Amino acid sequence: MENKLIGCCGLDCEKCDARIATITNDDALREKTAALWTKLNGVLITPESINCTGCRVEGVKTPFCDKLCSIHNCVREKGLDTCADCKKMNGCSTLDSIVKNSPFVLENLKHIQNEK
Ligand code: SF4
Ligand code: SF4
Repeated sequence: MENKLIGCCGLDCEKCDARIATITNDDALREKTAALWTKLNGVLITPESINCTGCRVEGVKTPFCDKLCSIHNCVREKGLDTCADCKKMNGCSTLDSIVKNSPFVLENLKHIQNEK
């Protein structure tokens, strides 16, 4: 069965600190994650916004992985589940915003392709 905890972009939501902080209701981990994401993204991300169960499963989502995510929006507009369903996956400049820092997402997406 397809792993719905692999996000639209191939990130592994199961290992994401935002999801772990949400399902364990860990405010210290929310603060740590918000501080790290603020540093990485150069915009203020508050601990209150660190609430997410995963972008492809039911439940709360951070805006950064939902409405503000260009990859999630692209997948949604195309009526796909993930970038693994897209013929443009290899070399996509939108997906590259994740691939450049987390190249393993391509392996996760290829794994989804092989599961289908
Ligand atoms: S969708 Fe949520 S759980 Fe998945 S990577 Fe993004 S913030 Fe983390
Ligand atoms: S165009 Fe790029 S971001 Fe959009 S679904 Fe295809 S691979 Fe994903």
